[in-house]
Amino acid sequence: MNLSELFVGTYAQVYALSCMLIILLLMFFMSLRLLVDRKRKAYMTLSVSLAAVIFQHVLLIVLALQDEAFNQWLYSAEQLLKVVSFIFLNMAVYQLYNSTKKRDTLYFYSLLLVTLLLFAMQTQIPGWLSGSPEQIRLLQHIGLELYLFGLILLGLALLPHRVGQSGKYKAAMIAYLICQLAHIVNRYVVETPMDGLRVVENFLPIIVYFILFLFVFDRVVELMQTIYRSSITDGLTGLYNRKYLLKRVVQYTARDLPVSILFFDIDNFKTLNDTRGHQAGDDALRRVAQVLVEESDEIGIVGRYGGEELVVLVTDSSIKPGVLAEKMRVRVERDVGVTVSAGYSKYRDGMTAEELVREADAAMYSAKTTGKNKVVKYTKSLAKA
Ligand code: GH3
Ligand code: MG
Ligand code: MG
Repeated sequence: MNLSELFVGTYAQVYALSCMLIILLLMFFMSLRLLVDRKRKAYMTLSVSLAAVIFQHVLLIVLALQDEAFNQWLYSAEQLLKVVSFIFLNMAVYQLYNSTKKRDTLYFYSLLLVTLLLFAMQTQIPGWLSGSPEQIRLLQHIGLELYLFGLILLGLALLPHRVGQSGKYKAAMIAYLICQLAHIVNRYVVETPMDGLRVVENFLPIIVYFILFLFVFDRVVELMQTIYRSSITDGLTGLYNRKYLLKRVVQYTARDLPVSILFFDIDNFKTLNDTRGHQAGDDALRRVAQVLVEESDEIGIVGRYGGEELVVLVTDSSIKPGVLAEKMRVRVERDVGVTVSAGYSKYRDGMTAEELVREADAAMYSAKTTGKNKVVKYTKSLAKA
């Protein structure tokens, strides 16, 4: 085997195709796993498209290894799969970033329909033309090849500003465009395939699929992070939700760390809702949350405990919780224009997280019943109240 065979011979072709198959199989199993877990449309489309691309590449390997010069049916099937999987793959990329509207589905099916029409025409062409079998064969297949070329350009024109990671998408598509160009020139334009173009045809697709792999991988990680974030936060305020906050309190109390809990409740919130509307209520709640977050920066975390009850877990033991709560109360009154009642309690050895929060709640209740708009420290006497 000489050097040129390493890049352009059958071995090179099969070797490159095997590399692609590995990348594609990895992506396929990742996508299948996600489909089972999440049942999103995008993962369904992605799985179908990858199955088609994999099948197409198996056919390419078979074609490369075949002794006969040309197998009409295998070649046609491979070509059809190439175009169909390309359409599916782009749809999956689109769906990874967008919810599919009726119009998108219509585009998608129209493109598939044109593919099938062109494919059906292929089978009729030999009857229409006169010429050598070789010439007919070339003309027969050029329709779908040019169509795919057009689809790549269409993708480049339409998708980059509709999907994230547009740099990666464009890079993959331009590389694929070059592959397809090399393929068309070698197959239909020049008499004998050019070695340089064959290298491009053989190896550039590996880069295309590798970029695609990175694209899908990054997007999936991003989606998972979004799902995780929304599972631990509250949609209105962006604060941690009760479940997550309590989990964090447990983490500290279980290790006997000297944390404290500040418990806030907005005063007369119902009146605010009733007089200025629910929207104004939401707005006030968001702004109170924002004040607490700013004041807790690097010394604690804030959660929404219930409707208009917000809780701060102070993790920095050098902070005096009473002073911090008072600072927050004053700022809320000044910046938001509503008042809050607050209670706080410090961790003592052996307490549970629930006890600690309950004490701060009891102190807040004491603030409510003794005039509101104030901060009360938890004391034993409150336990009996
Ligand atoms: P108090 O001073 O005793 O705390 O009186 P209050 O009116 O604040 O307390 P109450 O518990 O009677 O009412 C709380 C109100 O908070 C009732 C509910 O409609 C409102 N609320 C709860 N969650 C939200 C929310 O997400 N947005 C808005 N706008 N209102 C909410
Ligand atoms: Mg209230
Ligand atoms: Mg309340």
